[in-house]
Amino acid sequence: MYTAAFNYKRANSLAEALALLQQDPEAKLLAGGHSLIPAMKLRLAAPSTLIDISRLPELKGVRREGDTLVVGAATTYRELEDNPLVREHCPLLPQVLQHVGDPAVRSKGTLGGSLAHADPAADLPAAMLALGARMKAMGPTGSRVIEADEFFTGMFSTALNEKEILTEIHIPIRSGAKTAYAKFPHPASRYAIVGVAVVVDGGTVRAAVTGAGEHAMRLTKLEEALSGKELTAENIAQACQNLLSPEALNEDRAASRTYRAHLVDVMAKRALMQALGL
Ligand SMILES: Cc1cc2nc3c(=O)[nH]c(=O)nc-3n(C[C@H](O)[C@H](O)[C@H](O)COP(=O)(O)OP(=O)(O)OC[C@H]3O[C@@H](n4cnc5c(N)ncnc54)[C@H](O)[C@@H]3O)c2cc1C
Repeated sequence: MYTAAFNYKRANSLAEALALLQQDPEAKLLAGGHSLIPAMKLRLAAPSTLIDISRLPELKGVRREGDTLVVGAATTYRELEDNPLVREHCPLLPQVLQHVGDPAVRSKGTLGGSLAHADPAADLPAAMLALGARMKAMGPTGSRVIEADEFFTGMFSTALNEKEILTEIHIPIRSGAKTAYAKFPHPASRYAIVGVAVVVDGGTVRAAVTGAGEHAMRLTKLEEALSGKELTAENIAQACQNLLSPEALNEDRAASRTYRAHLVDVMAKRALMQALGL
């Protein structure tokens, strides 16, 4: 299907992108276009104007600031996979990215685009929650920082308002942390039916799931069950039981609520075992 007619403007600076966004309430930002364009083709979205932010230098790249990795929102998955700072200080990102789409998707899709789109089955939101990332957003009155725990608010919905641009993702560097992502992909789309990301930092476990509910969420029951416990295979298996109650979970042709709840337990256990080499 063809998209509805739209205007296209390539912003030359972040300031220009912000100004264009304030001028037209029907405009939308275009990053990698790998969620927005399909939605436009299906006529699920019909923006008046696409404001292209994909090449803005202010939104590209990775740098280290003290104990934080700062990732520009328009940095592509491919750029992240190849980045030495990411590989050294945030191995969870490449671990997750190898499960995202295919090489074509990874060469265009951006971290900021995925987080702002907040697809309930997207992989990166779970990683950001497990890592305790913070999102920096720029609006007409300045910038603000939103914790990952407060960022995902519903299906395709986030704490960003329509006048804001997600500019940076701040990821705490957890040296020596062990990480993994276990995904049970949909057989056709390869999106997550359930995906669990874990970060084991000393004795502390952070875990988050995508695909299960309306948006990615922390697995607090698992985190609490393992708090202060030795991370043995037995303790992990015991903790990975009934982590989410099926009533609150998604249901579709691929998986019932009960099956999804079961998958959450299995993927959580698999991710932890993988992270710890058990
Ligand atoms: C064939 C295919 C397979 C895929 N498989 C997977 C998969 O397995 N796992 C997965 O997680 N994803 C998958 N995706 C989705 C892919 O990851 C998308 O790239 C991602 O969801 C959106 O990123 P984008 O940069 O393409 O954003 P766009 O499509 O350009 O934008 C998405 C939305 O976010 C908004 N937006 C973009 N950037 C910003 C910003 N900086 N600030 C505020 N709003 C912004 C846009 O206005 C739009 O509403 C797949 C896509 C395709 C086409």
